Amino acid sequence: PPGSMQSWPLLVTHALEYAARWHKDQKIVCKTVEGPVTISTYADLNQRAKLCALALQKLGVKPGDVVGTLAWNTTRHLEAWYGTMGIGGVTHTLNPRLSDADIAYIAGHGEDRLILVDATLLPVVARIAKELPLLQAVVVLTDRQHMPDHAAAAALSVPLLCYEQLLDEAAESGALGSFTWPRLHEDSPAGLCYTSGTTGNPKGVRYTHRSNFLHALITTAPDALALSASSTILMVVPMFHANSWGLNFSGPMVGARLVLPGPYLDGENIYQLMHTFKVTVTAGVPTVWLNLLQHMDKHKLALRHLQRVCIAGSAPPRSMIQALEKHGVDVRHLWGMTELSPLGSLGTLTSGQIGDGLTHDDVISLKEGQGRPHLFCDMRLVDDEGKQLPNDGKAVGHLQVRGPIVVERYHKAAAPAVDDQGWFMTGDVASIDEHGMMRIADRSKDVIKSGGEWISSIALENACMGHPKVLEAAVVGIPDEKWGERPLLVVVPHAHVAGDEALKRELLAYMAEHPAVARYAAPDDVAFVPEIPHNATGKVSKLSLRMMFQHYKRP
Ligand code: ADP
Repeated sequence: PPGSMQSWPLLVTHALEYAARWHKDQKIVCKTVEGPVTISTYADLNQRAKLCALALQKLGVKPGDVVGTLAWNTTRHLEAWYGTMGIGGVTHTLNPRLSDADIAYIAGHGEDRLILVDATLLPVVARIAKELPLLQAVVVLTDRQHMPDHAAAAALSVPLLCYEQLLDEAAESGALGSFTWPRLHEDSPAGLCYTSGTTGNPKGVRYTHRSNFLHALITTAPDALALSASSTILMVVPMFHANSWGLNFSGPMVGARLVLPGPYLDGENIYQLMHTFKVTVTAGVPTVWLNLLQHMDKHKLALRHLQRVCIAGSAPPRSMIQALEKHGVDVRHLWGMTELSPLGSLGTLTSGQIGDGLTHDDVISLKEGQGRPHLFCDMRLVDDEGKQLPNDGKAVGHLQVRGPIVVERYHKAAAPAVDDQGWFMTGDVASIDEHGMMRIADRSKDVIKSGGEWISSIALENACMGHPKVLEAAVVGIPDEKWGERPLLVVVPHAHVAGDEALKRELLAYMAEHPAVARYAAPDDVAFVPEIPHNATGKVSKLSLRMMFQHYKRP
């Protein structure tokens, strides 16, 4: 006989309904694209998400239909996520930092039927709309007062609609009273997100209600982001960056207060929002924290309320972890990928590790690692032949993962993305120690192969970032006749520091003596640049760097 318990599909709308019912007055603060700060509640969010759902249904959105969004983190964007997913639609986040060609490819491949867009980003959609034969309408996420003028509408081949007007019409229809979120299958697709595609075309990952639900739930745990009803979360990581690391769902799941920064992601605005709204926890890529720390340094500012900063996307340098911890903030270093919903490992210490009489420096060293796998993300290392390697902290191999939050097959791909046991090859090379602490050495395509040794560009970058005259550093492999490849250190010095021969000698000596840098790995040349290129999710773009230095000759 079957078990006795109720079978509830794990739907993201369950998180929303829960928040609206049991945390109905909890606040959602938003710095809007239009400028002013708005404050609403989870009860408002649920009601408006339902109005959005009704509006989308009226526009013909059916289960399985894809609705693109090109928007910053705002309340309207959040409503639209739930409004779309809640009726079986698929929210497809488009990253506004990508090129027009990439956005057109991704929206075309995703078969977006509608695009919901911030008014400031409408020109992007206007430029690419003619390449999207399935596109039926464009909805501007604003009110009537802020709708773009007629010229913008005339430039589009499809109708240009106003989000608030659609919601008003849905409210006037009287259908809200009898509307309830449908009981979908938990494996229904809910979201679509494309990987950055540094080699070949971007690939789409279709998250399901279940994968989103499980992923978000695990990220609320004490060893993960440690979210609770007493948290105030600043949602720095954009919704278009890999599912906003689950925050769209995990916040409502625990009834946390949300602060949505809109497009204002510079150090000054982030600081202001944290300070004004007493933010306790936040999450984002290292670049954002670099900007925040610079702003705080310059103006001698402190953060009184912030307890935790969760960092993923690329490895935070040791100096960044130290600087944040000096401000009294607990750094949580996580690792993830779009294909993993996206978080796969969590950088908190075990009682065994803490009990070992660690010094503060040891703790920082542990936090430089990418953390242990969580319940829904199993891990292993394999060599080039696919043979499993030991978790001894020394062996470095290809990192594979599997679990209910891991991709099985890319959108529209003919073959699965995993082997017959479900292992997904991450494209990262890593080690895992006996405590399960995983350390990323590099992306396999960025690792520098020099005279039979593998050199981790991340380790060199992090070591160099510890030098007081260095603002940002990146390392790429440069072809070399003798060694195959040698690391080139590319450096942006701090303002008012000259990138000259003297600094070059100083940095080379510093790297050669650095305890984290092996003899064979120490770079033999430095190039100074005014700026290091970053990609659309704020990571150092190794591809652009390699292009910049493709004709480079070592002196
Ligand atoms: P996301 O957009 O969520 O960062 P991507 O799929 O674009 O996901 O990139 C994932 C890759 O980013 C990983 O395979 C890894 O190379 C890198 N990455 C993510 N987090 C970290 C981290 N904490 N340390 C080092 N590299 C990381």
